[in-house]
Amino acid sequence: MSSLITNMIETGKPVHVVINPRSGYGGQKRLLGELRREIRQAGWEVVEYVTQAVADATRYAKSIAPQASAVIAWGGDGTVNEVANGLADTNVPLLAVRAGTENLLAKELSIPKRPADLVGLLKSGEIMACDIGMINGLSFHSILGVGFDAEVVRRVSRTRTGHISHLSYFWPIWRTFWEHNFPRLLVQADGETIFQGQGLVFVGNISRYSSGLRICRDARFDDGLLDLVVFECDQQARLLLHAAWTLLRLHPLKGNVIYRQARRIRVESDKPVHCQLDGDLGPTTPLDISISPRKIKLIVPGSPPGWPGPFWPWKGAPV
Ligand SMILES: [Mg+2]
Repeated sequence: MSSLITNMIETGKPVHVVINPRSGYGGQKRLLGELRREIRQAGWEVVEYVTQAVADATRYAKSIAPQASAVIAWGGDGTVNEVANGLADTNVPLLAVRAGTENLLAKELSIPKRPADLVGLLKSGEIMACDIGMINGLSFHSILGVGFDAEVVRRVSRTRTGHISHLSYFWPIWRTFWEHNFPRLLVQADGETIFQGQGLVFVGNISRYSSGLRICRDARFDDGLLDLVVFECDQQARLLLHAAWTLLRLHPLKGNVIYRQARRIRVESDKPVHCQLDGDLGPTTPLDISISPRKIKLIVPGSPPGWPGPFWPWKGAPV
């Protein structure tokens, strides 16, 4: 069965825009105004909702799903995750846009930035089913990390007062790099113990990670599998080497890196270790991670005119 569902978005119901005012930058307010105008010109009614607290977006998306033709998540990956949670198991498609510090899912899907192009997607984009990852009862759509990067996120969130930029990460990364003690981890994939030792773990539904790194290099969001990457690492110098090989996208070929796919993953550690979920601080170990196949519908670009092959390499392929 193909993950491509349709390219038709209902016109009889409004398009809802869920806005996280803490994400993004001042200039985006102008873009939001442009988006509103473009949607109206295309014939849809627009309903906007501004979130005020964690989980607001999930509650709102769930409540309006029967009266929505589509929902646009105007924020970062955390906002997208909350909206996706609210729309899970419905037929209402989600358009994830780039209005946050990092929008890994929107980048993975090649979602454009200009409001006119976003409305073009509402009119003629395609809708695909997307898997959702679950960890200790919480969901994620892009990638989670256990250990080093979660410690960075913990430090950033501790001092966060408003919206953050990439610069907000500089000192937390620098301090974490020098102070981090690599935890002793036990990793199981589909019931098999595949790693015991010091290191970092990443589990991804998409290939992208921050700063252009493709840690889960081969991940597809619709194959019903999670990509699991374990970096064996006990010292700072080795972490730099891992980063260099990851930058070259050759890390799966290294002897001290495990790269595989699984449906169920468990991570234990000798002491509680945090994880980060789509850039937000997540629970501590032990972690039980699984995949819910084709849980949400995403609006994605169709093949450009004259494109020689399928824009989405796996579109139409049996899964
Ligand atoms: Mg996958």
